[in-house]
Amino acid sequence: PEIMKNQATINLGTIGHVAHGKTTVVKAISGVQIKFRNELIRNITIKLGYANAKIYKCDNPDCPRPDCYKSFGSGKEDNPPCPRPNCGGTLQLLRHVSFVDCPGHDILMATMLNGAAVMDAVLLLIAGNEPCPQPQTSEHLAAIEIMKLKDIIILQNKIDLIRESSAKEQYKQIKNFVQDTIAKDAPIIPTSAQLGCTIDNLRGGVAGGSLLQGILRVGDEIEIRPGDVGTKEGRIRCTPLRTKILSLMAEENKLDFAIPGGLIGIGTKIDPALCRGNHLVGHVIGAVGKLPDIFIEIEINYFLLRRLLGVRVSETQQQTSSISALEKNEILLVNIGSTTTGGRVLTVRGDLAKIQLQNPVCTEVGEKIALSRKVQDHWRLIGWGEIKR
Ligand code: GDP
Ligand code: MG
Repeated sequence: PEIMKNQATINLGTIGHVAHGKTTVVKAISGVQIKFRNELIRNITIKLGYANAKIYKCDNPDCPRPDCYKSFGSGKEDNPPCPRPNCGGTLQLLRHVSFVDCPGHDILMATMLNGAAVMDAVLLLIAGNEPCPQPQTSEHLAAIEIMKLKDIIILQNKIDLIRESSAKEQYKQIKNFVQDTIAKDAPIIPTSAQLGCTIDNLRGGVAGGSLLQGILRVGDEIEIRPGDVGTKEGRIRCTPLRTKILSLMAEENKLDFAIPGGLIGIGTKIDPALCRGNHLVGHVIGAVGKLPDIFIEIEINYFLLRRLLGVRVSETQQQTSSISALEKNEILLVNIGSTTTGGRVLTVRGDLAKIQLQNPVCTEVGEKIALSRKVQDHWRLIGWGEIKR
């Protein structure tokens, strides 16, 4: 609980179709207006938005739900008075969360998958004034299913724009849509993200990512893998980088140490030239000598979706949306953790495939990966796999 004051301890993703209200709901909860600034989170990926929020509950047992819950930006003090008139209670910090706000546009699917790699739980936004599902509603849900994210809350948003009867109709549509998915038991909460936002301009501008396990302390010696990637005599060569942690930040808060969950920034002594231009996106930081291997070729056990989820198809076009088998030599887009890389299919045998990666990746056997194929000029999710060796 002490740690939670400074650092968020959970990453909440926002997913769903474009313009269904992902960015607006983050603003409603955190007060932060996300602008998609490319360099904001260098080590995670480009074009993911992020913002932190503290969620409190009033300690007065008579303070009614839902008003007893309040959220603010992460700069809020520890025990503010309950803002409900004449309540007299004090707000107690329940959770400090980082939002990972995904772009909903269909051409940004790879970015969404990068985001999903660090999410602990998700808010699935579904606009109340459109039929459900829209293409990226299905595609994003499939993506988090692959990532085995099962903590999902569905927000039936823009409720201010529709009548009660159509909200109930759409509720059935949503239930029907999720019934065979990982979200089948997810609560469906009607919201209007638009109402009640406060503007509170907080932001950080640090290079960072999320800690998956262990603890990082200021002063620790760390290794970055794969690190500096070059070629020598036609072969890819990786030189892991070694450095020291100079500072740790969680948005505006300076940390002495960081624990898993939430987004953190790590100040290092690495030559800025090496970090520039998202050069180290997808690389992994850890204690010297403790990180997993670097892979250039992977053997996977894979599964393909039955059809493309991210594109609209009319009845007559059904065929174009079915997914054909992997072909030798075809180029796929491969997401491994927060790395996105091209990959050439070297061999396919049953549900086993060997893939040569365009960029080396620090990962391990058993890791889940997502596979996308270029369809009509855009990368579309076609399936997933598990690294065998
Ligand atoms: P995103 O693409 O999912 O991030 O969607 P945005 O959060 O950018 O929202 C798209 C548009 O819908 C913006 O103009 C928002 O102001 C509007 N919007 C979001 N939530 C609501 C809501 O609950 N009610 C209404 N009326 N508009 C909303
Ligand atoms: Mg948005």
